[in-house]
Amino acid sequence: MMCGIMTARSCKEAGINPRITILDGARKIGAKILVAGGGRCNVTHHKVLPKDYAGGSRNAIKKVLKAFTEQETIAFFADLGVQLKQEDTGKMFPVTDSAQTVLSALLNECDRLGVQIVQPWRVGSIEPDGTGYVIHPSDDRNTPISCDRLVLATGGMALPKTGSDGAGYRFAKHLGHTVTDRVFPSLVPLVVDASDTWVKDLSGISTRSTLEVRSGTGKRLASFTNELLCTHFGLSGPGVLDVSRWYLDAKQNDPDASLVINWLGDGRFDELDQQLQTLGKRTVSGWLRDRLPERLAKAICQQAGVDPTAPGHAISREQRRALVKMLVECPVAIERDRGFTFAEVTAGGVPLSEIAPSTMQSRVADNLWIIGELLDVDGRIGGFNFQWAWAGGTVAGRSIADSLTISG
Ligand SMILES: Cc1cc2nc3c(=O)[nH]c(=O)nc-3n(C[C@H](O)[C@H](O)[C@H](O)COP(=O)(O)OP(=O)(O)OC[C@H]3O[C@@H](n4cnc5c(N)ncnc54)[C@H](O)[C@@H]3O)c2cc1C
Repeated sequence: MMCGIMTARSCKEAGINPRITILDGARKIGAKILVAGGGRCNVTHHKVLPKDYAGGSRNAIKKVLKAFTEQETIAFFADLGVQLKQEDTGKMFPVTDSAQTVLSALLNECDRLGVQIVQPWRVGSIEPDGTGYVIHPSDDRNTPISCDRLVLATGGMALPKTGSDGAGYRFAKHLGHTVTDRVFPSLVPLVVDASDTWVKDLSGISTRSTLEVRSGTGKRLASFTNELLCTHFGLSGPGVLDVSRWYLDAKQNDPDASLVINWLGDGRFDELDQQLQTLGKRTVSGWLRDRLPERLAKAICQQAGVDPTAPGHAISREQRRALVKMLVECPVAIERDRGFTFAEVTAGGVPLSEIAPSTMQSRVADNLWIIGELLDVDGRIGGFNFQWAWAGGTVAGRSIADSLTISG
């Protein structure tokens, strides 16, 4: 939709009026906008930087983001009547707290500009045809459509029931592109191994923690501090979602890579060890009460082999050190991730090296543009993935208009 809008706007400025059609296989276009941010749609972030993304080259990501910044997203939506507000986390939401406002604004703008949305129209295959393409439907309810310029904006594989089920990778490959060796869920909850059932027993507890991915040799590979939610299957919440792609990626190359939790967020071993030594008559549970939810504190004591009702002076050096270790460096064994059905985004995709970041145009096939999550870029939690989609859609839209102007 963003690409359709920006193509139409740029064409209008150039005095040309091409037919712009969006084909969407889903019964509801923009399903992900509606589910995003718990139904409020986290449209962008107040500060978007290339380091907020993983995947393809930082330089290429930077180029795309620079061409349509978060400030331009805010202005774009304001112009459509959607004011955004910033929350403490830096996330930007519509002031209405309703994702429908965002989707309606895009649909109305498509309508105003004559960008036609045809749905449900599921693409089955795409064949090059001279300088353009013939798009074949996946069933006989629709008939093939020809186009001079083609944009692949099929998304990745996250939440496939919304319509983004990975078909785009097949189309891209058929048109000469490659797809990264690994396409895997990102921003995905993690299932804890049966050996660490105690974590599942904490279901419902949410606390601000630091999650760290370590290599088999103990090297820190990634670290995120945010809310961690214990669930009946394991770990969820923004901190876990952020760390998930780094954990899964590390695990692929290094089977000994691990996930370690600092339940206190910024708790430091020496400092806490020191504090515990000066507890005197105060109980361990009394000390922990100021720092952690009671149920979690109890479970951590149990794992460390420490009686929470014991006064500080009664616990041994070994017990004390075991407790501090459990607090700040608690290893949690992960069985698996929860898969694309529960993931918010896809890691991997069409390599950025195969498109020109100044235009989003394919370097492989003529008159083809690729945007959004289909590319090998995934952002962290906070509005970064939509910003990538808005920016890429804009860059492609302007480039398509340019190509039409040049070719007359
Ligand atoms: C639960 C959830 C919450 C999220 N929350 C946020 C958030 O708050 N903020 C944020 O920045 N990001 C969020 N994201 C990520 C964000 O939604 C995506 O990164 C973004 O929507 C990607 O945009 P896209 O246009 O590339 O693909 P999509 O939004 O996935 O759109 C692709 C479209 O292509 C259509 N399509 C696919 N294949 C075919 C085919 N063969 N024929 C025809 N049509 C086809 C689909 O029907 C779909 O409408 C969330 C994702 C999920 C799953």
